[in-house]
Amino acid sequence: MSMNKDVIEVTLHEELHTCMVCGYDRGFHASFVRLHAGHPHVRCILVCPECGARHDVGWITELK
Ligand SMILES: [Zn+2]
Repeated sequence: MSMNKDVIEVTLHEELHTCMVCGYDRGFHASFVRLHAGHPHVRCILVCPECGARHDVGWITELK
């Protein structure tokens, strides 16, 4: 686990449903950060509903 700006980089093992900061264990909200303006690639950031901590599991996909 390492810090990059305000995002915690985490490695996904079998399952990830627990916040690394507060221990909330019922899953995450999602936020999408576009990597480059005008391009479809976005990074999906998992946001803890309890404390708001942002977790990055390296989940990159394409959206409109
Ligand atoms: Zn939390």
